[in-house]
Amino acid sequence: MSFSYREVLPDVFHIEDAMGVCMTLLAGRREAWLLDSGYGLEDVAAFSASLTDKPVRLILTHGHYDHILGASWFDGASLFEEDFGTAEEHGGESWRRRALDAAAEKGIAAEAVPYLAAELPAWNKLEEKTLSLGGLTVQVIRCPGHTPGSAVLFVPERELLLTGDNWNPCTWVFFPEALPVRAYLRNMREILGLPFRRVLCSHSGGLHERRELEDFLGGLTEERIRSAEPVDTGAWLGIRTARVEPAAGMCLVFDADKAYKEQVNDAKGK
Ligand SMILES: [Zn+2]
Repeated sequence: MSFSYREVLPDVFHIEDAMGVCMTLLAGRREAWLLDSGYGLEDVAAFSASLTDKPVRLILTHGHYDHILGASWFDGASLFEEDFGTAEEHGGESWRRRALDAAAEKGIAAEAVPYLAAELPAWNKLEEKTLSLGGLTVQVIRCPGHTPGSAVLFVPERELLLTGDNWNPCTWVFFPEALPVRAYLRNMREILGLPFRRVLCSHSGGLHERRELEDFLGGLTEERIRSAEPVDTGAWLGIRTARVEPAAGMCLVFDADKAYKEQVNDAKGK
């Protein structure tokens, strides 16, 4: 199998699949949680089971295809109910074909027939709660933004925040299901109230410092949002996207029309 991984902190394994999308295994003494499942071109359940001798439960940060399609290798998966619709759509044939096209572009061999036919498990409702996996505690937090049902996780023993796609050095908040940019920012700024020092995200292979997320959120001023440059996101036709650079080497791409409506509604006090 072509997964790679690093134990970035004790009992915290950041795994990357052949397509370059990351997931994280939190290996507790009683049970392990795999956060996200990648594109699922290969058996991510077998790979994660090779890193721990405890049962592995699959938790999904949100319903996008590059996070959920690997769930076909598991008997069950939990995500926030608000993303069930997105997961239903992204589990469908057109998104699987998109994944196969992306694999072909990268020169990755994939067996199309079983991949298109693979059954996904029924989605279980994820709850906001704090649970002990044995030695590692996980706080599950609802943080709408990238999608309405986006989850972030906090692991106090490792002072670690896991953001899924709600924050990457280049963050996308422009899909049809994404929240308007200011609502996303409000929700993410609340997360800064947690005492984390490090961050893991889905599209970057290593640990990030808290300061990077602070710089990102702090750099997204109202002035910068209003003067964001239009950007062509190619495949996502029909959405007028804009791009901001809140800090060196980082970017946020959002739906400019949704942001304008939000600005008007905020001005009306709605
Ligand atoms: Zn996503």
